[in-house]
Amino acid sequence: MKRLEGKIALVTGAGRGIGAAIALKLAEEGATVIVNYSHSETAAAKTAEEAIKRGGQAETFGCDVSDMSAVDAMIKGIIKKHGRLDILVNNAGITRDNLMMRMSEQEFDDVIRTNLKGAFCCIKSVSRYMLKQRSGRIINISSVVGLHGNAGQANYAASKAGIIGLTKAAAKELASRGITVNAIAPGFIQTDMTAALPEEVKEKMLSDIPLGFLGETEDIAGTALFLTLDDARYITGQVISVDGGMSI
Ligand code: NAP
Repeated sequence: MKRLEGKIALVTGAGRGIGAAIALKLAEEGATVIVNYSHSETAAAKTAEEAIKRGGQAETFGCDVSDMSAVDAMIKGIIKKHGRLDILVNNAGITRDNLMMRMSEQEFDDVIRTNLKGAFCCIKSVSRYMLKQRSGRIINISSVVGLHGNAGQANYAASKAGIIGLTKAAAKELASRGITVNAIAPGFIQTDMTAALPEEVKEKMLSDIPLGFLGETEDIAGTALFLTLDDARYITGQVISVDGGMSI
């Protein structure tokens, strides 16, 4: 018996990278996955196709997670079609790196809007349905940078630290109705986001990882799956570092 049979899951920014790996992992366990994207429609369609091959059901939904009314329309559409929503993974995220002295207001606002406001919009919108259901699992993707900061990423670090506060507040607000809210703080995971970094930055990061190797999207997907299962029913408001020991 697959462990997520009958469950409906929304993964934001799931066309590629960590989001795609999480969507596929949930689908392998039998979930129906809504693969959200903002620009990468073709990639999202490929994720959905692969999710179906792996034994789940899947569909795509294009929507900018930082647009409250667009998010409300997406969630309404999911509820209308499937009658429920069991799992929300707030994965969508961007970087606009720069030293603070050079960082534009636009670069700061864009990152906070997508990474932090985007998660708020999705939680706000799904929570009314999860409260009625008296069940739900919400997983927010933070970062090691949200825990420890990083030069050149003040906007990103603030957004990811904000995700941790949002996770804890939402966990307290929603716990009485059986909804858990947790965050995952990945370290250095090989995706498009990190591929763009200069070689010397990657080498420096590698030297800061006690386990001595870079993470893969599967490492985050496995933790996300665990948080959706009954095995994790007594865990809420937590931040789980998946970073090869970077944050020790
Ligand atoms: P990625 O490969 O750059 O993918 C980012 C995803 O976010 C894309 O699917 C993108 O979709 C989506 N997205 C961006 N803006 C969006 C918006 N406004 N609405 C909906 N979707 C949007 O990044 P990744 O490395 O997989 O990162 C995924 C998450 O993990 C992010 O939150 C990131 O901050 C976090 N993280 C990553 C690492 C790492 O080392 N890779 C470490 C710590 C945390 P479109 O292409 O359709 O825009």
